Amino acid sequence: MSLRIVFTMPVSKAMGQSLVRAMSSQAVGSKNVGFIGLGNMGGHMASNLIQKGHKLHVYDISKDACKTLKAKGATVYTKTADLAKNSDFVITMLPNNDIVWETYNQMTADGVNKQTMFIDSSTIDPNLVRQIQKFISSKGARFIDAPVSGGVNGAAAATLTFMVGGTEEEYNIAKPILEGMGKQITYCGSYGMGQAAKLCNNMMLAISMIGASEAMNLAIRQGLDAKVFADIINSSTGRCWSTEAYNPVPGITPIAPCNNNYSGGFSTDLITKDLGLAAGVATATNTPIPLGALAHQIYRTLKARGLGDKDFSVVYEFLKNDENK
Ligand code: NAD
Repeated sequence: MSLRIVFTMPVSKAMGQSLVRAMSSQAVGSKNVGFIGLGNMGGHMASNLIQKGHKLHVYDISKDACKTLKAKGATVYTKTADLAKNSDFVITMLPNNDIVWETYNQMTADGVNKQTMFIDSSTIDPNLVRQIQKFISSKGARFIDAPVSGGVNGAAAATLTFMVGGTEEEYNIAKPILEGMGKQITYCGSYGMGQAAKLCNNMMLAISMIGASEAMNLAIRQGLDAKVFADIINSSTGRCWSTEAYNPVPGITPIAPCNNNYSGGFSTDLITKDLGLAAGVATATNTPIPLGALAHQIYRTLKARGLGDKDFSVVYEFLKNDENK
């Protein structure tokens, strides 16, 4: 039987949407959610779960990051094992393979609460996903991969896309929690398939950001106004997320990190890591990725020039300055 919701008093669209959100969060029920890794992405994701009515148990090596979440009502832990034992779900949002593996080892060294579902939303190697899944499963609990796309703005607005790898049953258990942080929760297949999708997306993102930067720079160097050209691309065939939602030239997309000296956002270190992971799975599957490999080398060069902690759209500055030398 389907349930119809009829509002009998006039409500604005925004008010109606928040009522529906509040009702769906009641349907999920308030859960104890552990969150490890409260950086550019994780900080917003954990805050959104608090807003949806969940009890947050958080950990990060950064005291400042923990303080921010504590001020919003989260409980801060000094040991991940204690955090996990108090959580129905544990979500990890960490920088790389080594840190994710180390975190799962430490967190579960003395056993697990078998009712806990562990969800990794970091971008890591699909092979490591399968290794952690076997490891957690041998301890009696469940583990799935659910990497995300949508950037820091998507994390802040709870509009992320989640790519889930696991069994369909596990996907259905995790979905209501993930819906508190994202709007598209897609089942991709077995363990590691979320990461398989994520790595291909990010390889394309890196290529398109370099392409957007090259085209913007060439247009400006010919004397075109940056804003005029960006408007042309965004209503033409060159349009993509990197030109429209995250244009690398300051002054075009107001909320893009380039307007803040390329700080915050998605770091060059992280996209370089993702391109390395894509190269690994391409080698393993004997798949040619000529542009992905070139993008990897370009981002490695940016890192070597000390731009690792800048947002990955800094490739525009790199191309621009290089040509001026
Ligand atoms: P970030 O560097 O801003 O945040 C990482 C957080 O992890 C930091 O707060 C750091 O202090 C913490 N941390 C590091 N080591 C830790 C440890 N051992 N234990 C606990 N906390 C630790 O990174 P981010 O941009 O939030 O990205 C996190 C993950 O999400 C990465 O795997 C990245 O590839 C992926 N991702 C990022 C974006 C983006 O736009 N930034 C988008 C999608 C996916």
